[in-house]
Amino acid sequence: MTTDPAVLYAKLKEFFGFDAFKGDQEAIIHNLLDGKDTFVLMPTGGGKSLCFQLPALVMPGTAIVISPLIALMKNQVDVIRGFVEEQNGIAHFLNSSLNKAQIQEVRKDLLSGVTKLLYVAPESLTKEENVGLLREVNISFYAVDEAHCISEWGHDFRPEYRRIRDMVRTIGRAPIIALTATATPKVQNDIQKNLGIMDATVFKSSFNRPNLCYEVRDKVDPEKDIIRYIKQNPGKSGIIYCLSRKKVEEIANLLNINGIKVLPYHAGLDARTRAENQDRFLMEDVDVIVATIAFGMGIDKPDVRFVIHYDIPKSIEGYYQETGRAGRDGENAECITYYSYKDILKLEKFMQGKPVSEQEIGRQLLMETVAYAETNQCRRKMLLNYFGEDYPKDNCGMCDNCLNPKPTFDGRKEMCLVIRLIKSLPEHFKIEHLSMVLSGHSNAMIKSYKHDSLPLFGAGKDHSEKFWSVVIHQGLLLHLLDKEIETYGLLYVTDKGEKFYEDPYEIRLVEDRIFLGKGSDDEDDEDLANDKAAMKGGGGDATLFSMLKSLRKDMSRKLNLQPWIIFGDPALEDMSIQYPITFEELHNCQGVGEGKARKYGKEFIELIHRYVEENDITRPEDFVVKSAPTKSANKIYIIQSVDRRLSLEDIADARGMDLDELLDEIEVIVSSGTKLDLNYYIRQVIDDDVVEDIYEYFKSEATSDSVEDAMKILGPDYEEFEIRLVRIKFLCEIAS
Ligand code: ADP
Ligand code: MG
Repeated sequence: MTTDPAVLYAKLKEFFGFDAFKGDQEAIIHNLLDGKDTFVLMPTGGGKSLCFQLPALVMPGTAIVISPLIALMKNQVDVIRGFVEEQNGIAHFLNSSLNKAQIQEVRKDLLSGVTKLLYVAPESLTKEENVGLLREVNISFYAVDEAHCISEWGHDFRPEYRRIRDMVRTIGRAPIIALTATATPKVQNDIQKNLGIMDATVFKSSFNRPNLCYEVRDKVDPEKDIIRYIKQNPGKSGIIYCLSRKKVEEIANLLNINGIKVLPYHAGLDARTRAENQDRFLMEDVDVIVATIAFGMGIDKPDVRFVIHYDIPKSIEGYYQETGRAGRDGENAECITYYSYKDILKLEKFMQGKPVSEQEIGRQLLMETVAYAETNQCRRKMLLNYFGEDYPKDNCGMCDNCLNPKPTFDGRKEMCLVIRLIKSLPEHFKIEHLSMVLSGHSNAMIKSYKHDSLPLFGAGKDHSEKFWSVVIHQGLLLHLLDKEIETYGLLYVTDKGEKFYEDPYEIRLVEDRIFLGKGSDDEDDEDLANDKAAMKGGGGDATLFSMLKSLRKDMSRKLNLQPWIIFGDPALEDMSIQYPITFEELHNCQGVGEGKARKYGKEFIELIHRYVEENDITRPEDFVVKSAPTKSANKIYIIQSVDRRLSLEDIADARGMDLDELLDEIEVIVSSGTKLDLNYYIRQVIDDDVVEDIYEYFKSEATSDSVEDAMKILGPDYEEFEIRLVRIKFLCEIAS
């Protein structure tokens, strides 16, 4: 069916109120009207719906729209009905949410021919009664929305999508238009093959989003970093994605405590709360939403200024979709991802319960994300390359790597070695395999292929496996290498690569970034405390540190207390980093309980305040992250039981711990500033003289609160258990 362009424009205006088509819309629609199969790759928000809605309205018959999102169907249908007011029956949807009467109505409208668009969930399409009905209907074309759901290599595989082709055959062939916003070359191929539309006209818009700035940050204290970021960007709308519901709740809670208006969103909330939270975000009642990836599908908020990934996404597709929700209005927006390899290991662990083939796919998608996160190359180039698109410039100016370019080296020798290895092998292999061979590492697979006895095994052992995988990734970006489509991930040398190999020229390669991130621990505060301890050291203000130390010395003389009892070195060090100038801020420094802050803190705060003013120091944080109260059930139980004067044995029994473990817990409680009065128990189990000896040691002799040192100096007459108990008493009475 050929249609006069003028007619199409008139309909565009009449039905949708638009004056012009966006991007490829017009060409796509003409192609479909001509009865040709059509494949549309267009980023989210590009205007895919119109590509089937408009032709459906002008063509004779009914268009079948297959879409996975039941929730969105009603909305889409309402939109169409809004355009074409006089006819309610013009668009319908068919899914499991309809009752009998509603189905009857759909049936009537379909058979009488008033319905131009029928939205169907894929599982409804396969129901026999529906198939029977649709066989009687004159079908204009089939639209497969979110077509990446067909491929296991897409990020949202739905097995029902695999049956679409058979259903189309049964119901009656008509042109097919498939649409998706994310598809790697592999997924594109899967879609066309599965739908039987290898000859479809392909319309591929650029996936480049020039107004989005991409950044990957080391995951060190991400909570604080996020709070700082939001406080520096007041009033801006943003989404924070986390992988687990628990994390969503935790982060939302933490941000709230720190005075940021946020709401959580995840599938564990009831439907009403979810809808309400989403609305309040859309209505700008709150600026920030913390969500799992359940949030955002079909959301069209144009002015989202930042998308933060607290956890690394499981695939680049997911990442691209989620970051794609930023900056739809075309104004600049930031996409920040926190990365640590620990998170990757965690994700891999989660996969272990899945079928092997799924694991294999999941792992590969994840490895692509790792490569993306760790690269020192232009992120835009890498993203676009992933979706089969070339980015022509070397520096995009809008990603962390381009804004801070890293030194490069001439990598022609290294690239030639990679190519030589690939060419020397009769079969094709994946990146990991090749980089292991080059760096001289072996595993079961390498042994089974006897690749550990290849002449090139270990030919690049001066470099790590990681280094070689980076070289290979850059070979992909330069199109010297490519991945096979059918057997995803196996590498081959392109024509360009062959030419390069024959006559090598200079290529500039960069080494990867090193990340130190801690990763997210869902565990208790002990872990947090450990992490904090691990990341300290250095970075402080040395002048301030020594001033704080001499203040401590003065005070220790005045109070006749050992310096460490006032504040330990880690506390002073943290102060020289945080510059606390209020009690609250001081209390948030490492090893500073509330009691200590109040007892000894005044002079320290005053000193720091003066120092900051005199030296005109911009404090790195003009806020301090307040932490959510610890929710550990054990700790609460212990505190309450000690209040009730239960014996430690009973407490330990009740919680299934031994006494040592209980003391560990108690020490954590005390070191975070909570006082416990254990005298009732100590009196019962330790001789008064012994208590006094140990107490006196800590008060006058000790140079730190180390239990080990105490045992050495006090000698074998005192048991570790006694020392630990008295130390706790001492810390509660004097040192906190
Ligand atoms: P996609 O499905 O590609 O993510 P949609 O079809 O939902 O995108 O369209 C995104 C937005 O673009 C919608 O708000 C839609 O009304 C708008 N839009 C689509 N086509 C046009 C056009 N020709 N002119 C102006 N706006 C358009
Ligand atoms: Mg869409």
